[in-house]
Amino acid sequence: MARYTGASCRLCRRENKKLFLKGDRCYSDKCAVVRRATVPGQHGKARARKTSEYGLQLRAKQSTRRYYGVLESQFATYYDIASRKPGMAGENLLRILESRIDNIVYRAGFASSRKEARQLVRHNHFTLNGEKVNIPSILLKAGDVVAVANSSKNSDKIKAVVEANSARPTPKWMDVSKDQLTANIIELPNREDIDFDVEEHLIVEYYSK
Ligand code: SF4
Repeated sequence: MARYTGASCRLCRRENKKLFLKGDRCYSDKCAVVRRATVPGQHGKARARKTSEYGLQLRAKQSTRRYYGVLESQFATYYDIASRKPGMAGENLLRILESRIDNIVYRAGFASSRKEARQLVRHNHFTLNGEKVNIPSILLKAGDVVAVANSSKNSDKIKAVVEANSARPTPKWMDVSKDQLTANIIELPNREDIDFDVEEHLIVEYYSK
């Protein structure tokens, strides 16, 4: 399935929750979920009332996939990996998604959204453990260090992004230096460290059919 190129806010309204796809706007009163909390489309209100078991499972899967900006097939692969690991498959899945380098860059405040983080990673603005990296889906582990590449540290764009996101809190499972422009992964997050509002057991049920 191709990457979605339509309006980002429409996805949030479809899921009836903030997916934080647009940066600053998501934290303001201009957010479409705040202004217009209905499902998009002519029959939006009617669709919003449908809450079959399958519908709930599908929405949990779709909202999580869209929150992290992951394609359908990649998401299914992550679930497959998560279900083979010890522990709860749903929690494992969220931990895998959180460990993507584009998510780490966003969580560290080096990008305004995951979409922007993906673009910055693709354009060689970051290093992983001192090596250049340009693949947004790389999964990180405890001890890994992501840094703004030396060649990008004086970039006006990077400076503006870091400044714009300086007030956003960073998760306790990473050590972020806004001076050095580095993010050190202390440990991968537990479920209580992940602030995304989803009942992950519904995703497990979706894939267990
Ligand atoms: Fe979603 Fe952000 Fe648009 Fe709000 S502003 S609807 S959180 S993308």
